[in-house]
Amino acid sequence: MSGIGEVTLVGGGPGSLELITVGGLEALRRADVVLYDRLAPHDQLTELAPNASLIDVGKRPGHHAVAQQEIERMLVEHAMRGSRVVRLKGGDSYVLGRGGEEVLACRKAGVPVRVIPGVTSAIAVPAAAGIPLTHRGVSHLFTVVSGHAPLTDDEHRHLAGLGGTIVVLMGVGTLPGLIAGLVRHGLCADTPVAAIERGFAPEQRTTFSDLAGIVTDAATAGVTSPAVIVIGEVVRLALHGDGIAAQTLASAGGLASATARVEP
Ligand code: SAH
Repeated sequence: MSGIGEVTLVGGGPGSLELITVGGLEALRRADVVLYDRLAPHDQLTELAPNASLIDVGKRPGHHAVAQQEIERMLVEHAMRGSRVVRLKGGDSYVLGRGGEEVLACRKAGVPVRVIPGVTSAIAVPAAAGIPLTHRGVSHLFTVVSGHAPLTDDEHRHLAGLGGTIVVLMGVGTLPGLIAGLVRHGLCADTPVAAIERGFAPEQRTTFSDLAGIVTDAATAGVTSPAVIVIGEVVRLALHGDGIAAQTLASAGGLASATARVEP
């Protein structure tokens, strides 16, 4: 190999191989090096990227296996040596995925870089539980927030006042603070909430509750990361998602009342 290589950021989707794009698969097939995250579909990488060295830079909650700066340094270094480098990330690289930082690091180093978008868990995981983020007459907007760090009181106020669907990623740890903030700023205590864990995995599970009950219900059910939390009236529409969702809502009276919890 001679000359400079390239870096391709591939959004791998929320974990199921079905949800990676054709472009993403093609980039993997041609890759010499793949740096991947845990939430990306990585089980079959040896087949998908048959010529590549595979490097796990995965992060788990509270652990940074490889620091972000180090990842950026590795991307640049491999490309400088002439490799076709794929950075395989969970969901979409530009949705709470630090993809922007990696692109900037490549540009700064003069390394050609492109981004192949992915299916974000913010939209796909609620869909897997039968929840559309928008629905005519119910909600015409959604806001995706990171629960990685607590929101400010002002942010709680704006979120509560917006009136649409709220989608929270990385939000299990900070859930009590978020819920308290939304209630404090006037969001109705009976607003339905769903916490969907491990979307698209065989262990996918949805816990239904409402603003007043979700903190207790999530703790009782033992909700853990990775989970997407959806707050808003659209949660009542989860009639055709996973079986448990449909069952729970049916037994709770369907659209009339969605306050219910799924036992683990
Ligand atoms: N860039 C990613 C998000 C990275 S932040 C994307 O677009 O999807 C990581 C968070 O995403 C997790 O804490 C969780 O909230 C969510 N997440 C990603 N995959 C998930 C899955 N399969 N099931 C549930 N939540 C998931």
